[in-house]
Amino acid sequence: MKKRFIAIPIPLRLLALGACFILPAIGSAQDKPPEFVATRLSDTVTMLKGQGGNVGISAGKDGVYIVDDQVQPVTQQLLAEIRKISDRPIRFIINTHHHADHVGGNEIIAGTGAVIVAHDNVYQRMSTRQFNNFLNETTEPWAAGALPVITFSDRITLHLNGEDVTVIHVANGHTDGDAIIHFPVSNVIHMGDIYFNGLYPFIDLDSGGSLQGILAGVELALTMTNKDTRIIPGHGPVSTPTELTAYRDFLLQAQANVQALIDQGKSLEEVIAARPTAQWDDALGQTRIKPAQMVTFIYNSLTGVHEFTRIKANLQE
Ligand SMILES: [Zn+2]
Repeated sequence: MKKRFIAIPIPLRLLALGACFILPAIGSAQDKPPEFVATRLSDTVTMLKGQGGNVGISAGKDGVYIVDDQVQPVTQQLLAEIRKISDRPIRFIINTHHHADHVGGNEIIAGTGAVIVAHDNVYQRMSTRQFNNFLNETTEPWAAGALPVITFSDRITLHLNGEDVTVIHVANGHTDGDAIIHFPVSNVIHMGDIYFNGLYPFIDLDSGGSLQGILAGVELALTMTNKDTRIIPGHGPVSTPTELTAYRDFLLQAQANVQALIDQGKSLEEVIAARPTAQWDDALGQTRIKPAQMVTFIYNSLTGVHEFTRIKANLQE
């Protein structure tokens, strides 16, 4: 089954620091700090773009809590940006999954008194050595202070700042530890890396991710939306339900296109050569995840390779 993996030696090597998308940390961009852009989405919720996954911030009468905290080197800048919104204590950090561009600030911010909350598998992966086949990279365990303190299996609810915010596990989506966060009064959903807005998604099959799980997570999120809902993607600009629906439709059609080729008995190499994602490649496949990689994620999801990689991950524990 291992043959189904093809080596993709491209800039993905840059992902090697254990993150999905920390490319700006490399090279010349390292010299100047990233620009942070804050977008107010409700009376209490703000989205912050910086370096790494998008951050959600809830600030109100009960204090501050955040969803994800970007890459480690920008943590002091991230804290300064949060302080512009509120100078109240940061009480909780919710991690959408374990990748380093979403949990990089954990240790420092937890050191200020925040409690880290995440799915059980985030704790499991962050506290043990991980080998990622696709990235061909090993990630050492995180320091104890960076690990989640409270973990959950299905969902957990935070009753803060005037709303009951649910943190809901999505099984085998971008990874095996994903959560989406629903702010019902604010009418905001943070999707983590279940949703890449405007670019092909990274599906981390080696960490238990799958296309099918991503689709299930998108469908779940859509059931919680109305026309005014604002959606924070893991990467890319703030989104509307209309755009999220288009993302769902792209994933479904791409899945059907790849499945039709699998049904004809084609190998992964032959499926890539048939360009089943051609209609989206210009719009979504030019920045990070390239068309051949997108097709590989879909093919491996549909042919059950993720089952294999999950078993392998378990064996390494
Ligand atoms: Zn990720």
